[in-house]
Amino acid sequence: MPLRDVALGPYYLLKAMATTFKHNVRPVVTIEYPERQKPVPPRARGRHILHRYADGLEKCVGCELCAIACPVGCIVVEAAENTPELRVSPGERYAKRYEINLLRCIYCGLCEEACPYDAITMGPRYDLADDHPDKFIAVKEDLLEPLPASLADTAVPSAAPSAQKIPRKW
Ligand code: SF4
Ligand code: SF4
Repeated sequence: MPLRDVALGPYYLLKAMATTFKHNVRPVVTIEYPERQKPVPPRARGRHILHRYADGLEKCVGCELCAIACPVGCIVVEAAENTPELRVSPGERYAKRYEINLLRCIYCGLCEEACPYDAITMGPRYDLADDHPDKFIAVKEDLLEPLPASLADTAVPSAAPSAQKIPRKW
């Protein structure tokens, strides 16, 4: 080993220790994911949410405009007649089936722009990992906003036939 490196050894050692110490006293920038998640910007486009009105009725009326606007064809909507007995949405129709293939989605946001009732928006959730492609077919129950707490114990809205139990194979 050259004499120069031997002489500079303590200097490099102190320099490395200073770097370690400097990072020890700096604020931590990493977080314990997934227990803690970083807040996302307000306009971030994450997993979709199907919204309800304040009375619990679904905003979606099954018009399929979101499916038509989707550039990759990853939305499937099947509408059905709404009736006073069902009371799913305030309109004459509701989305009996609503599915999004989250693997095909490019998170462009065109579906939320196309919706005339603000029934679908892109939410803040970005944790989309799973262990099988079939689990990325989000059906209506996965997407629908929970009932407001004040309505959770009431019968509104009805348990109308909605998304199928077995997701469609894409
Ligand atoms: S974000 Fe874009 S690609 Fe994804 S479902 Fe909506 S329109 Fe389709
Ligand atoms: S989410 Fe909006 S655009 Fe899509 S089917 Fe429902 S009401 Fe129509």
